[in-house]
Amino acid sequence: MCQNCPQPQGFLAELIDSGLLIDTGVDGLYGRSGLFEEVIARFDDLITRHGGQDGAEVVRFPPAMSRKHFEKSGYLKSFPQLAGTVHSFAGDERAHAELLHKVADGVDWTDGQISTEVVLTPAACYPLYPVVAKRGPLKADGALFDLQSYCFRHEPSKDPARMQLFRMREYVRFGTPEQVTEFRATWLERGQEMMASLGVPLNLDVANDPFFGRAGRMLANNQRDQRLKFELLIPIESEEKPTACLSFNYHQDHFGTTWGIQTAAGETAHTACVGFGMERVALALFKHHGYDVERWPASVRNVLWP
Ligand code: ATP
Ligand code: ZN
Ligand code: MG
Repeated sequence: MCQNCPQPQGFLAELIDSGLLIDTGVDGLYGRSGLFEEVIARFDDLITRHGGQDGAEVVRFPPAMSRKHFEKSGYLKSFPQLAGTVHSFAGDERAHAELLHKVADGVDWTDGQISTEVVLTPAACYPLYPVVAKRGPLKADGALFDLQSYCFRHEPSKDPARMQLFRMREYVRFGTPEQVTEFRATWLERGQEMMASLGVPLNLDVANDPFFGRAGRMLANNQRDQRLKFELLIPIESEEKPTACLSFNYHQDHFGTTWGIQTAAGETAHTACVGFGMERVALALFKHHGYDVERWPASVRNVLWP
């Protein structure tokens, strides 16, 4: 262990001491214990019990996506600061020897790395849009997908609820503005009911994404004014600044236009998604009910272990 490095404090230190999270020496990058994973699995199942009857098509992508698709998605316009790209060595033996020297000398060895065709997935729904676009126009009742993926965001933090690699479950709806806004309204209700059944304090609020730069501030204001993003907040790291555990996003025709996705009637499709932060919900449960799941309130245990 590094002697001079600041040691984890507060809730993060407790999570590491209890063994639920495993320190890797990198802020926001943790191992998970079996118990932590069990709670995630039970919550995953609870989501399916609330949303499974809608007939969503289940799709799972690995935690990386096509760099070409990522470039086209517009993510770099809005969130360049969060993106994570995958690079690899492609040199000859001489370059390899140089690389090993640099590693041994403790100097930057990454300048010889070249970009690969993959980047890390920033949100579970990003790999989906080009796949749906490729299938052609939507059916009259649109489309609905069930996704889950590890996602990467370069936002290292001492707040255990702000990880660099975390899982996001999502339902994503494609269709007319009416179909899509109805989906979001349904999940705004369902999400609150579902989380209330877990006995944690909740608060729903309008929100915005952290769009980059000065132009980004305008996008963020517009997103708020139009109430395009809602978050279900639960206090985890701080009481004053509760953490977004579920989010409800209406993208209007942003992805429909970007990817050329059409409704059955030939209009540009609208999309919306509901995202569940799996680790954040698990952390909220441990925060509010303690580290011993056997002693969680019976009502909560009955919901998670029916
Ligand atoms: P925040 O405002 O806290 O940064 P966000 O608006 O960036 O959250 P979304 O982009 O809507 O979050 O992502 C969907 C869900 O993924 C969030 O509701 C949250 O539960 C979860 N999430 C987002 N960022 C992180 C992170 N860094 N670590 C863990 N979970 C996260
Ligand atoms: Zn999404
Ligand atoms: Mg964020």
